[in-house]
Parts: sequence; C-alpha cells; structure tokens
Amino acid sequence: MVDILNADLHCHSNVSDGTLCPEDLAARAHARGVQLWALTDHDEIGGQQRAAAAAAALGMAYLTGTEISVTFAGETVHVVGLGFDAGDAALQAGLARTRGGRELRAREMAAGLAKVGIEGAYEGALKYVGNPDLISRTHFARYLVEIGACRDTPEVFRKYLTEGKPGFVPHAWATLEDAVGWITGAGGMAVVAHPGRYKFNANEEYALFSHFKDLGGRGVEVVTGSHTPADYAKYTELAQEFDLYASRGSDFHSPAESHTDLGSLPLLSPQLRPVWAALADRIQR
Ligand code: AMP
Ligand code: MN
Ligand code: MN
Ligand code: MN
Repeated sequence: MVDILNADLHCHSNVSDGTLCPEDLAARAHARGVQLWALTDHDEIGGQQRAAAAAAALGMAYLTGTEISVTFAGETVHVVGLGFDAGDAALQAGLARTRGGRELRAREMAAGLAKVGIEGAYEGALKYVGNPDLISRTHFARYLVEIGACRDTPEVFRKYLTEGKPGFVPHAWATLEDAVGWITGAGGMAVVAHPGRYKFNANEEYALFSHFKDLGGRGVEVVTGSHTPADYAKYTELAQEFDLYASRGSDFHSPAESHTDLGSLPLLSPQLRPVWAALADRIQR
C-alpha cells in the first residue's frame, strides 16, 4: 500500500521562469506541508543540486525534475521528467539543444512587439531573466505588465504572446521521442504535463498518449494547477485506461502571479497509482 503524499512534483525557480530561487522554493514547499518535492525548471536542470541540498537540509524528500518543451502534431506539449540522474550526459546535451533557439526566438518576439509600438521588449524581458539561456514568454509578460501594456500576465498572453498575436513566434522544440528518451535513458520517468491545457481533439489526444506510451512514457499529471475538477476526473480515467502512473504538482511560478501555491491542490485519488510508487529508489532523503 503506497501512501498518498502531499507531493508537489511541478514548479519553477528563477533558473527558468519562476521568480524564487531554488532555496526559497524549497522553504516555501516545506512550510506548506509538502512531503515530496521536485523542482521542474523548463528545459533546464541547473537548479537541481541546489534544490536537492535545500530539501535535504529541511528533511523533505526530493525527486530530480525538469519540464521539457516538445512539439507534437504542431502543438507545444510539455513533458515532465522525474527521478533521473542529473549527471546524465545525453540528458544534459538534449536539454542544452532544446534551450538553444530561445535567444533568437526572443529577438523575433521583440521585433513583432515593436511593430505594434512596444519598443525595447527584448531588453525589458532580460531584466527578469535569472538564467540567460532561458528567456521565455513569461519574462516578456512581466515586462509588458511593468510598462502598463496589460494588467496581468494572463492578459499579456491573450493579447500578445499566443498564436496569431504580435509577439508570438512559432518554434520547433524537442520531439516527443527525444524528450522521453532523454528522461528514461537517465533512469527517470517521463510524465505528460497538464494534458488539460492542450488544444487536441479526442483522436489527437489518444494519439499523443499512445505514442507517448510506445516510446516508454509512464506517467500523466492528473492534479495540476491548470486543471479543473472535471479535468481531474477525466485524467483519472485516462491514467487508468493507459495504465499510467499519476502525478500531482502546482506548476507554481511566483507568489505574485500563481493562483495555486505549492502543496495546496487536492490529493491524488487512492484509485490511482502515484508516480512515487515507481520511483521509490530514486527519492533523495
Ligand atoms: P515559453 O516556454 O517561452 O513558450 O513559455 C511558456 C510559459 O509561459 C509557460 O511555462 C507558462 O509559465 C507561461 N504561460 C503560458 N501560457 C500562459 C498564460 N495563458 N498565462 C500565463 N502564463 C502562461
Ligand atoms: Mn513556465
Ligand atoms: Mn508547462
Ligand atoms: Mn510548468
């Protein structure tokens, strides 16, 4: 019998597009009752040692983590990796390659924004970047709020940073095969992040999960900050249908921006097999 833990296996530090450093995130997770934590920065594992050390100092169990950007069927899909060996050379090289196009993309985003009268967005976004390799749409969103172009970051995404909007630049990320391969090759588990967010119809979603399983993917986020209670029910069923382990994570980015704090979501249903049941030997205590 596996315990239903207050696990938070999805959040971001300033090593990607969060605002807190790994140590402050660890302290916040611990203070909010998180029993098993993973830091999952986008396309980056540079914060893993600091996160693991901070968790150890607090007596909080830790799994290594990352969230890889993937292009599947023309859409961006996120794949979380958990419990991998952070020293794995192929994983490190794959993530470095995935990060590679961000700089040019950011300059093109700024050029698009300049066309609608928003000048200096590249330099503005850079002020919010903690890791020069990881300039993201979130950093642009913070700058556009700063200059009063929008009231909050969701409004910036709606008006400027999503498909068809002036600051949106299409981008080819990693393939699903690569992302799952890097994670599993490093001894970890690949997990489909926040499936409720993708604009797939039922057939496309079925194709994503079939392909993901064929490639060796083993998990799905059921309880996450961007899911509704209806999504929890839907992806509980999907986890059972595809025989996947279930994960739970807030996707916390910032005290000022995130609606869902660390460790605050409903627990996973006891009908599900949690990801930590399969990762017991990967947990750092
Ligand atoms: P990027 O990897 O540069 O495309 O940025 C993706 C990040 O933007 C996500 O991880 C979220 O943190 C953030 N994001 C995406 N869509 C939205 C939205 N509608 N509102 C607020 N933040 C968003
Ligand atoms: Mn993000
Ligand atoms: Mn994501
Ligand atoms: Mn995330």
